[in-house]
Amino acid sequence: MSKQLAIDVLTLFPEMVEGYFGCSMLGRAKQNGLLDIRVHNIRDWATDKHKITDDRPFGGGAGMVLKPEPVVDAIESLKKENSRVVYLSPDGNPLNRSIAERFAEESHLILLSGHYEGIDQRILDGWIDEEISIGDYVLTNGTLPAAVLVDCLARFVPGVLGEPSSNQDAFTHQLLGAPQYTRPADFRGMKVPEVLLNGNHAEIDKWRNNEQSKKTRERRPDLLSSD
Ligand code: SAM
Repeated sequence: MSKQLAIDVLTLFPEMVEGYFGCSMLGRAKQNGLLDIRVHNIRDWATDKHKITDDRPFGGGAGMVLKPEPVVDAIESLKKENSRVVYLSPDGNPLNRSIAERFAEESHLILLSGHYEGIDQRILDGWIDEEISIGDYVLTNGTLPAAVLVDCLARFVPGVLGEPSSNQDAFTHQLLGAPQYTRPADFRGMKVPEVLLNGNHAEIDKWRNNEQSKKTRERRPDLLSSD
């Protein structure tokens, strides 16, 4: 029996990702009991009559900051002994394959999405285990980054992909992906490489490896020099 990974996403905009988590591979993984993804509205933990979750920054400056009380109450009500609490942030470690593989081995993740100018530093100091960025650009809120992280790590949860096709993905062994073709074998005179049609799997693997190395050398030589 495969183990289940539970993921709680905290956001001010659950509607941005609820549909996404119900679709395709993620939807199937939920149905099959491999992933238990729940999306929560941080506003549900606001206790005042207007359900306020943000306030002006001390010291002045533009924008608003997520208040500690609703966020910390939310984390504390969801947290278990083995939870890892992750804040999606442009200041975090850039997401990559090995980080995704590591998260896939956890049993419970709480993913916090920020909004406005970010979150009160005391939340980071007291309740966040790790910060993850999805790239060197700034989005308006962390809900899509949380969905990106869930999608990326789900591929490494045993049983989520029918066969272990994550082994053929880009960035496996620091290489970009090989070209893929499907029927028809001849599309408007553009032919599928002969080697893919002959059923010789050793030759096919060799061809794919060569194509991966060639593409990586041309587009991402930095991957070949990193360890
Ligand atoms: N002033 C903040 C800064 O520079 O870090 C910007 C906050 S941003 C407008 C609002 C929220 O979007 C953040 O709290 C974070 O959760 C999310 N976010 C924005 N860009 C992101 C990125 N590249 N990776 C992960 N999360 C991001």
